[in-house]
Amino acid sequence: MKVPTKFSIKTLGCKVNQYEEQVIREKVLDMGYVETDPKDADIFILNSCTVTGEADRKTLQLIRRVKRDNPGVRVVVTGCYAVVEKDIETLRAMPEVDMVVPGKDKTRIKEFLGCLEDNARVGVFDQGISGFSGHSRAFVKVQDGCDQRCSYCKVNIVRGPSVSRPYEDIMAEVKTLISKGYREVVLTGICIGAWKVPGHSSIAALIDNVCRIDGNFRVRVSSIEPNHIDERFIKTVSSSKKFCRHIHIPLQSGSDTILEKMKRRYTSTQFKDIVSRLRREMPFLGISTDIIVGFPGERSSDFNATREFVQQIKPSRIHVFPYSDRPGTSASRMEGRVPVQEVKNRVKILLEDGKHLQKMFCKSFIEKDIEVLVEAKSYDGAIEGYTAEYVRVRAHKSHGSYGEILRLKGAFSDPEGCFLIAE
Ligand code: SF4
Repeated sequence: MKVPTKFSIKTLGCKVNQYEEQVIREKVLDMGYVETDPKDADIFILNSCTVTGEADRKTLQLIRRVKRDNPGVRVVVTGCYAVVEKDIETLRAMPEVDMVVPGKDKTRIKEFLGCLEDNARVGVFDQGISGFSGHSRAFVKVQDGCDQRCSYCKVNIVRGPSVSRPYEDIMAEVKTLISKGYREVVLTGICIGAWKVPGHSSIAALIDNVCRIDGNFRVRVSSIEPNHIDERFIKTVSSSKKFCRHIHIPLQSGSDTILEKMKRRYTSTQFKDIVSRLRREMPFLGISTDIIVGFPGERSSDFNATREFVQQIKPSRIHVFPYSDRPGTSASRMEGRVPVQEVKNRVKILLEDGKHLQKMFCKSFIEKDIEVLVEAKSYDGAIEGYTAEYVRVRAHKSHGSYGEILRLKGAFSDPEGCFLIAE
C-alpha cells in the first residue's frame, strides 16, 4: 500500500489568505495526503503574503528555515508573493523552492501537486493567445525556463528551472489557431525538449498529438537541444506528414574541449550521430544551428575544429554569435579571453562557411517538388515564403496568396543562394 504523502501548510498575511489556506488544505486532503508539521512533511506549502517589504522578508525567511530544518521537504510557494512575474522569478531562482503556483491558480493546487509527484514541473502560462497578427505562422509557447545550466547562459538564473505548460492548454490553443486558418504551428520554449507533464512523458508525445489534430497545417519546433533528441523523437518527427523537415539544433562548438567548458551535454561525436540518425530517416532534412565564437579559452585549433565539424555535418543555416559575457555565469569567471578583433575575424570566417552551405542546401531543391507557406509579398509583387525544410522561396503571385501552402517546383536559386525561385 502506498504510504500517504505528508504535507504541511502555512499562511502569512490577511484573513482572505487564511480562508484560502483552508480551501487549499481541503483540496490536498482530498488527494489522500495527511497533514503534519513542517519538520515531518514531504511537501510544505507556503501561502505567502507581500503586503509590505517585511511580509516579503518573512516569506523568504520562512522558506529558508523550513528547508534548513527539513532538507528533504519539497517546498511549494503560492499566494500573493507569487503574483508579479519578477517575484515569481525570484522564487523560482531559490534553490529551496521546488514549485511556484501563481497566486491566482492556488485553487488548482491538486493539478500542480500531481505534477510534483510525477517529477514534472508544470506551470500555468498566462500568455495564451488566439491569433498572431501579421503572421501566417503561429507560435505556441509550451515551456519556459531551463535546467541545463550551460556555463555561458543566464536563463536558469533569470527564468528559473524548466516549467511545462499543461497539455490541455497547448492542445486547445493549437486547435484555436488552426480553426482561425493558421497553416503552420511552431512549438516554442526556452528548452522545449524538457517538456513533460503527467500522462505525456516527452516533447515527442506532444508533437505526435499536435500532428494528429485534423486540418491542413504543418508543425515545427523552434529549437531542440541535441541531448533531447532520442529514438522516440526521431521516430515521431520522421513518421508524421505534418512535421516540417527542418530542425534547429544548437551546436555551439565543434571542439570537445570547448563543449566541455560550455557544460553542454554532448560531444561532437554524439552530435554527429544524432544528425546522421535524423538524416537517415528524413533524407532532405534542413538542420540549422547556432555557434558561439570566441568562448573563453577557444584556441585557433578549437575554432578550426568547429569549422571542420561544420563541413562534416553540413547545416542548412548557421547563426553565428560572438561570445557575450554574462556576469554571474561561470563562463564569466573563466580565463583565456579571445581578443575582440580575433573574435570578429572568426565570426566573419564562419559566416562565410555558413553562407556557402546555405547556398548548397538551397540549390539541392532545384527541380524538386516543394511546399511553400506564403508569408509575405516581396517588393515586386512576387510572393515569398518558406518550404518545410526552411528554404526561403520567391514565386510569381499568380501561384497563390498569403497564408496558403502551395505545391511548387524549385527552378533556380538567386546568385547569392539566399532563396529559391519557384515555378
Ligand atoms: S543555452 Fe539553452 S540549454 Fe543551455 S542553459 Fe541556456 S537555455 Fe538552457
